[in-house]
Order: sequence, then structure tokens, then C-alpha cells
Amino acid sequence: MKKIIGYIILLVLVCFLIPILGVKRFENLAVASNTLVENQIIEKSTQQKGELEEKQEKSEKQDRKITLLHYKTNQVEEISLDTYLYGVVSSEMPATFELEALKAQAVVARTYTMYKVNHRKHDNADICDNSACCQAWITKEDRMARWEEEVREQNWNKIVEAVDSTHGKIITYENEPINAFFHSNSGGMTEIPINVWGGSGYPYLQAVQTAGEEGYEQYYSEVTVTRSELENKIREKHSDFQIDWNASDCIKVLEYTQSNRVKTLKVGNLNLSGVEIRTLIGLKSANFEIEMSGNNIKFKVKGYGHGIGMSQTGADSMAKSGSNYEEIIKHFYQGIEIKDL
Ligand SMILES: [Zn+2]
Repeated sequence: MKKIIGYIILLVLVCFLIPILGVKRFENLAVASNTLVENQIIEKSTQQKGELEEKQEKSEKQDRKITLLHYKTNQVEEISLDTYLYGVVSSEMPATFELEALKAQAVVARTYTMYKVNHRKHDNADICDNSACCQAWITKEDRMARWEEEVREQNWNKIVEAVDSTHGKIITYENEPINAFFHSNSGGMTEIPINVWGGSGYPYLQAVQTAGEEGYEQYYSEVTVTRSELENKIREKHSDFQIDWNASDCIKVLEYTQSNRVKTLKVGNLNLSGVEIRTLIGLKSANFEIEMSGNNIKFKVKGYGHGIGMSQTGADSMAKSGSNYEEIIKHFYQGIEIKDL
């Protein structure tokens, strides 16, 4: 009987106490190993911090300066290229766009700037802050003031990340920075320069298709004018303009470009380019259809901008489908390389 009780006690010891001791030991081991991991993390973060500081110092040293002409005040400011680019990217593309699209915009803006440095328009500066002349730019203070308070910090940080993470990257063709045109929305297909400015010599600017742009507000717009409004607008530039509104072909598209924009439009006794009509009427692009009803002429417009080079909404749409900034750039500019300055 004593023997049996002895066995029961031994069994209890084996079943309960030994596992408890084991767990204790495991916990101790776990604590020790956690401490080790923490130490490693601290060491690593100190190391990373050191690397980051080094990187920042390096980038400050490497960051070139440009001269920026402030259009309104006529003052010329010397500014570091990346600081200038924060103001360009935040002015040219919504911060709500995907990070990879913003990175593509940063590289495009840096390239456009370097092109302007090599082909100066202004005697006293590399580039100006007038979007109609060179490239839009905004101060950090003005930019922040235009955002809602709760998104200010995160928006600005996103812009800074887009510029910093592509530091020094530019798009080159035959080792030269390209003339990196961009626009808001291509309406499904980009345009070649000859159909907009009549110029050529940019082999990297070809017409390419873009998917997903129809989801953006910039994709479609309408402008309606009356017959007399249209006549007045055209006569401002062409005093010999005449039109017989009873003729069935009084307004007719004669030719389209390969990207479906209006190349030539017959209006009364004139043949005008789609680009000129766009300017005269104030349409968002030269990709339009005309609908006439009674006294009204309705222009149904696809896309926003000249259509050359990178479409910003197209870039955002590609980024949403998983493309990175290099893939986006290589889609919109042909035969190019992305290189360090
Ligand atoms: Zn300018």
C-alpha cells in the first residue's frame, strides 16, 4: 500500500512539477532572447540613424542648387534642387495620388528642370515659377495653408518622400535630360508633339495608350456655346470668317490625329486645327466631338491638357494597378534611361 502511495506521489511530481519548472526555464530563456533582440534592434536603429545622418549630409552635399525666378516679384532665388522640387511636385500633382505616381512626377519635374538648366529661357535664372512659362512652384507655407489641417503633415511628408527617395534620378535620351512634358489626363491616348506645336525631334515622345483614366474627373467635360458666341470667338482671330448655318457641313471634322484628337476642323469658310479650336473656345483638350442642336453647339471633350508625355492621372492609375515609378516613366517616354545626375 505504502509502495502504491509512493508511486502516486512520484507520478504527481512527474506530471505537474517538472513541466512547471520547464516552463519557468523556457520563460527565462525567452526573456533572455527578447533582451537580445531588443539590444539588436537598438544597435540596428542607432546604426540606421547614423546611416541616415550620413545619407542626409551626403545628399545635402550632392544636392545641386538652381536659380529660380519668382515671376510675380521678379526676384531670383538660389535654392537647392530637391527643396525646389518639393514645391513643384506639391504644386503639379495632388498629394492624394499614389506614392509611385508622385515619385514619377518628381523624376519628371527634376528632368524638366535640368532640361531648362541646359536650355535657359531666362537671362537671369535657370527656371521660373510661372506654370504657363516653365513649371509651377509653391512655397511650403502656401502649400500647407491650402491643405486641411489634419492632412497637412502627412501630405507634405509624402511629397518629401517622393522627391527624396528618387534623389538625383533623371530621364535621359542619348545621355541628355529629355524635355519631359506632362499633362493632366490623356483621354486614353497620349499625343505626339507635331500635332500640337508642329515641331518634331523628340523621338521619346510617342502616342501611347493609357488605361484607367476614365475614372478621373479630368477625363470628361463639356462646353456649350451659342452660334453667335462661336462666331465672335473665331472672328477675334479670323476677321474673314463666314458661316452659313443652314449648310449641312457648316462644321465638320476633316481629319483626326492618330490619338483621336481633332487635327483639322472645317468651320464655315475656314479649316482650323483642333488645337486652335481648343484655345479659341477654351476646351480642356483637342479630343472632342461636336453636337449641334438649334442655336447651341456642344463640345464633348475627353482628357485635359496637350496630351504630350506623361499623363498624371494615367500615372496614378498605373500606380494603383501596381506599377512602380520606373515602369510608369518607361510607359510614357520611349527609348529612355533613368540615370543619376
Ligand atoms: Zn519661365
